[in-house]
Amino acid sequence: MRILLHICCAPCAVYTFNILKEKGNAVEGFFYNPNIHPSSEYMKRKESAQGLSESLGLKIRIFRDCRFEDFFRKVNFHEEEGRCPLCWSLRLNKAAEYAAKNGFDGFSTTLLISPYQDHDKIRQIGEAAAERYAVEFVYEDFRKGFRESHTISRKMGLYHQNYCGCLYSERERFLKSS
Ligand code: SF4
Repeated sequence: MRILLHICCAPCAVYTFNILKEKGNAVEGFFYNPNIHPSSEYMKRKESAQGLSESLGLKIRIFRDCRFEDFFRKVNFHEEEGRCPLCWSLRLNKAAEYAAKNGFDGFSTTLLISPYQDHDKIRQIGEAAAERYAVEFVYEDFRKGFRESHTISRKMGLYHQNYCGCLYSERERFLKSS
């Protein structure tokens, strides 16, 4: 099966890519994350994904027209509550659309490896996007591989972020540590 794997960051992609590949799939990465701010942080994560691409032999498509405005318009008035499902929806719908337009059989996401995010909601949003664009959502509970993925990526020298991505999550991290 030809799968487009939405990549939120390189550390989460190591395990998910390997598992999907071991199952005999042809996997390509897709980096579309308008939720990562500011630009310097976006570039670090994008370059880290490109570094992973070279190390694992994983082709990664970087979505060129990735605009922060799309994220802010999507979560407007939902910044305090409910912004994460909107953020996942923005990214997974783009992945589904891209997969459908470019001849993939299905798509998946590295978000499914996170033990910190609402796994069931991500699955639900992925399945709804799949239905909308008539392409399969390849679901798997990758969470058991979270630690392993991050350990391997540290050994590979890949960049590890210390907040989820958006400015709101960065502020929350500072509030927690202050
Ligand atoms: S905290 Fe993470 S998932 Fe939630 S809106 Fe921000 S970047 Fe998106």
